[in-house]
Amino acid sequence: MLDKPLLIDGIWRAASGNRTAEVKNPATGQRIAQLPIAERADLDAALGAASRGFETWRKMTALERSRIMQKAAGIVRERAETIAQHMVREQGKPLAEARGEANAAPEHIEWHAEEARRIYGRVIPSRVPGARQMSLREPVGPVAAFSPWNFPINQLVRKISAALAAGCSVIAKPPEETPSACIELARAFQDAGVPAGVINIVFGIPHEVSDYLIASPIIQKISFTGSVPVGKALAAAAASHMKRSTMELGGHAPYIVADDADVAAAAKLGVMLKYRNAGQVCASPTRFYVHDSVYDGFRDSFVAGAKALKVGDGLADETQMGPLANPRRLDAMEMLVDDAISAGAKLECGGRRIGNAGFFFEPTVLSDVPEEARIMNEEPFGPVAALVRVGSVDEAIERSNRLPFGLAAFAFTRSLKTADRFAEELAAGMVSINHFGIAAAETPFGGIKDSGYGSEGGAESLDGYLTTKFVSHVGA
Ligand code: NAD
Repeated sequence: MLDKPLLIDGIWRAASGNRTAEVKNPATGQRIAQLPIAERADLDAALGAASRGFETWRKMTALERSRIMQKAAGIVRERAETIAQHMVREQGKPLAEARGEANAAPEHIEWHAEEARRIYGRVIPSRVPGARQMSLREPVGPVAAFSPWNFPINQLVRKISAALAAGCSVIAKPPEETPSACIELARAFQDAGVPAGVINIVFGIPHEVSDYLIASPIIQKISFTGSVPVGKALAAAAASHMKRSTMELGGHAPYIVADDADVAAAAKLGVMLKYRNAGQVCASPTRFYVHDSVYDGFRDSFVAGAKALKVGDGLADETQMGPLANPRRLDAMEMLVDDAISAGAKLECGGRRIGNAGFFFEPTVLSDVPEEARIMNEEPFGPVAALVRVGSVDEAIERSNRLPFGLAAFAFTRSLKTADRFAEELAAGMVSINHFGIAAAETPFGGIKDSGYGSEGGAESLDGYLTTKFVSHVGA
């Protein structure tokens, strides 16, 4: 499967050159495969295919498109176990998490398939007798989509589903580090009857692919999920060609525990969310602002929870946290922990890599972390929690809103009034109070400020893939 990883014009092929990217198992550090990557000739072929695919797909009725997508969702569901196993081997997450992700993918396809049938326009009363005025929504055109390795199938399925629902074709560049689940996803759409050229998959050197595709006159829309610096560069490139973009970038989510919160429940959920996917989640809680009066209890429960986690190969039954996805993240974790300690934070547990095989890092808790420590300012994207005492709700909100990021925010309180304040005053694209309530297919997913723009869920998801055309006519 990995020897012919490029899907161009409905055919799975090897690359036209000899370059490859290494795919590794993060639990062992061992090589799984050398993945052929695209040359410019392959990108040209994909562009031609996407252009033709767009003409085919846009002319099909919304009902036909929707039915094919629904069928693809069913196929993904049938193959979920295979997809989950691929993700564990290439990305490292525990099998239970991988199964959850694989089974959520069809929900995204189904949601978008349903929305595909509800792309409504408007009729606008005319000033001229006998004239009909309409506002129509049309697919923007071929899309270039770039998805990351932390949720191999889930990040990609949102982009492909939104593009297809709107009537667009897509050239997707999934992550080279975790290709297999992405290939299975595309195969499911193909087996469901998506015509040739509507979905094209290329792997490559990321900046080569994005530079070339964004500049191509065929591509009309860019969708990217990844880091803030890369997102800003791609958004700037898209803007220079007057192309619209959806940017789902990094975050640094505050997790506020007020003095009247259910502290035990907040600590338990905090541990679950913090160490899920070893913290490599854009909406992962990272800055824990806990009221002074409940701080010690929260810290003790949280540390006990973190210490109890079973770290290991994601394929082992007992594993609750797998390795980091690549050695870059290990280096980043060590740097952030050392920096926080030298800034005055206390290391409550963890703080070091585990063993020399694979990319394992201990579930780590830092307490009383000064605001100037790098971890309070840079997205950690790993299994490190930073706990901070606060004296009031005002202080928690002010500190939460201090950074240029604005993706997710979490807060815990038993007071309706305080909950209302969190809902109104936290500067984030998604605010979840007293539970984890984000990322379902039917709810908007996206950030503000440096965390990006556009939505990858909910009815808003299609907005980025549609243009508005105004038509006015009178009978001849
Ligand atoms: P990175 O910035 O090198 O890459 C992030 C993603 O962008 C990768 O999937 C990569 O293939 C892709 N990418 C990089 N340069 C690109 C380019 N010029 N054109 C197109 N795609 C490009 O970082 P990394 O080391 O892979 O990941 C770590 C950082 O990335 C984290 O700190 C986190 O902020 C961010 N990240 C965010 C998400 C998310 O869900 N928002 C997912 C993965 C990574």
